[in-house]
Amino acid sequence: MSAWLPYGRQTIEDDDVAAVVAALRDDFLTTGPAVEAFEQDFRQVVGADHAVACSNGTAALHMTMLAAGIGPGDVCIVPAITFLATANCAAYVGADVVFADVDPDSGLMTPATLAEALERAKGRRVRAVLPVHLRGDVCDLPALAALAESAGAIIVEDAPHALGSSLRVGNQQEPVGGCAHSAMATFSFHPVKTIATGEGGMVTTNDAGLAERLRRLRSHGMSRPAGGDPWVYEMVEPGFNYRLPDILCALGRSQLAKLPRFGARRRVLTQAYETALAPLAPRVRIATRPEASDPVLHLMTVLIDFAAIGMTRRAVVDGLAARGVGTQVHYIPVHTQPYWRARNGALSLAGAQAWYDQCLTLPLFPGMADDDVARVVDALTEVLA
Ligand SMILES: *Cc1c(COP(=O)(O)O)cnc(C)c1O
Repeated sequence: MSAWLPYGRQTIEDDDVAAVVAALRDDFLTTGPAVEAFEQDFRQVVGADHAVACSNGTAALHMTMLAAGIGPGDVCIVPAITFLATANCAAYVGADVVFADVDPDSGLMTPATLAEALERAKGRRVRAVLPVHLRGDVCDLPALAALAESAGAIIVEDAPHALGSSLRVGNQQEPVGGCAHSAMATFSFHPVKTIATGEGGMVTTNDAGLAERLRRLRSHGMSRPAGGDPWVYEMVEPGFNYRLPDILCALGRSQLAKLPRFGARRRVLTQAYETALAPLAPRVRIATRPEASDPVLHLMTVLIDFAAIGMTRRAVVDGLAARGVGTQVHYIPVHTQPYWRARNGALSLAGAQAWYDQCLTLPLFPGMADDDVARVVDALTEVLA
């Protein structure tokens, strides 16, 4: 059997290692100049006024809730197909979650599914809508933002899948993270994401007040009053230690500089998948790309009607694993998790269920060799035969 192909993995090169080693020899291992340098680079890449680095994507989400003043009695709208953290962040601050359904072919929250969720949340204090750019395809942000605004809510994009993706709006190309239609956007640098620092996260925003509060929350709620004595700090609200050390910021900077190359490679591999998978249609379909989305795909998710082909997903997963091909399922609908079922009661969301029943994520990462795509598709063809 040839080498194991995971569904995703980091690409760490010699100059990334050198950047970390240099940071280890610097004066600051944390709270030093590498933090601001990484933030500066990041906000330029995504076109936001402010970027606040933090310890991981979950901390980023938690801080957005706190910075927006969301708390008990408030409601956040979260798509049912996402990672657990998107909903957990609302629970951290005592807010309630109303789950929105998703489009069964793209897995994304749409204006229609958001409108339906807002209808269910009617009469309650909806404070935030958290669209997730699942797989790297970008949600219809202008339409979601208009709906959120009419409900009195902000948009917080949970964007760990979509670093490098952009949205066509009119004749503009809007990078994800530029917050043209949102209050804040969050990112993660977990090893499977588009750039990796091991653990790491970022919040971007164009609102100076939010950025200031995010920085304060990241470090114990401390601020230094202007003109105060050098040792003086003030704690105005209990914050956290959600800092990203200089060692990881140095790695993040080195990785971010490679985003154009990583993104281009992901696009090439995506294109190769589209061609190679075509003969397996209609049994195997690639998740639908929304018209205006120009993605750097994080996940190569296909949809297989397992019931129709008379095979279980488990049999396909096992058959691929036996051929050295790793897969993953993104995601189990969050509203069906025991915690949310107990808290919110049973809820049936047809789009999320249809997506979950059919989705399977195939390997996609920049370090894949040119013939790896053929290897995956050949394995899938064999397994389905
Ligand atoms: C990875 C991810 C997170 C969490 O990021 P961590 O850095 O692992 O905490 C949150 N939401 C989505 C959609 C993710 O993919």
